[in-house]
Amino acid sequence: MKPYSSARDEFKGTAKVFLDANESPFPNGLNRYPDPLQRSLKAELGAYFGVYGEQILLGNGSDEPIDLLIRAFCEPNRDHILITPPTYGMYEVCANTNSVSVINAPLDLDYQLQTEALIERLNDCVKLVFLCSPNNPTGNLLDEKSILQITDATKGLVIVDEAYADFSGFSMLKHLPSRPNLVVLKTFSKAWGLAAIRLGMLIAHPDVLFWLNRIKAPYNINRMTMDCASQILNQKGTVAQQVQQIVEEKNRLVSFLESSVLVNHVFPSQANFVLVRFKDVQKVFQHLLSEGIVVRNRSNLPECLGCLRISVGLPAENNMLMQALRALERTQSL
Ligand SMILES: *Cc1c(COP(=O)(O)O)cnc(C)c1O
Repeated sequence: MKPYSSARDEFKGTAKVFLDANESPFPNGLNRYPDPLQRSLKAELGAYFGVYGEQILLGNGSDEPIDLLIRAFCEPNRDHILITPPTYGMYEVCANTNSVSVINAPLDLDYQLQTEALIERLNDCVKLVFLCSPNNPTGNLLDEKSILQITDATKGLVIVDEAYADFSGFSMLKHLPSRPNLVVLKTFSKAWGLAAIRLGMLIAHPDVLFWLNRIKAPYNINRMTMDCASQILNQKGTVAQQVQQIVEEKNRLVSFLESSVLVNHVFPSQANFVLVRFKDVQKVFQHLLSEGIVVRNRSNLPECLGCLRISVGLPAENNMLMQALRALERTQSL
């Protein structure tokens, strides 16, 4: 396939006048098409994450790189992706949209990888293995050795979605140089506090990037998103402080929940949310709703029976949640 070649792809160098892209000539800060390869932002991101700019693909959220991976590497109605339920829903949705079927290799009762059973399910048609660490909705990190074992066992790519890695302080990025089939996904939507700008990142071997860059939409990242991301990279200290505060608030919430008579189990979390199994999940969910507090009901997933996923908010918001649960506890003991 011959990729689309934009005006900005074909001209390299510095020009006096741009009359090549049918843009408006009236300067307003946004009248020119942005760099299709976002080189300047990738250089900043590369320096932050310790990778080369050429190893980075930027997407409209992480959803775009997930879709690009499936479209680039899976033949519809023939190839498969492998996922480890319970996990993030977009992998399956993107596969289905592209007529690519999904093989499940469920996590065990502690939400860890069942490495051998997973490896047995690999074959030449399993082109992509999606792992999420820390995992959504369970909150735990997946075992590093298991991830590496799976990466070494497959002929396809292993994608580790690190949307919540900033909260765990652990990343698989250090293994990229020795594993050309390892792919890491990052997002600006969680710890970086920029869900609205829609910016996701894929980091991998340049050979993987070569194929993805051929099929991505030419100007997929807009100028305002790039400027905003660049600004936040200059406020790393603020982000680090916020991450720290979220982790402290999560610990406070976890201690509260562990002592609550409504709770059956609090799953260990390395993310900015906690998965909690309640004794009567519908009652708790409805009670919180009646108090105007919305949490994610995951109790209909077979692997998460009775569970709610609760995001960590501001201290005042977490207090509201805890007060609402205390009030329900009191009605229970009457
Ligand atoms: C929130 C989340 C993302 C981020 O998606 P964006 O499209 O970048 O907002 C990616 N992966 C997981 C597992 C998530 O929970």
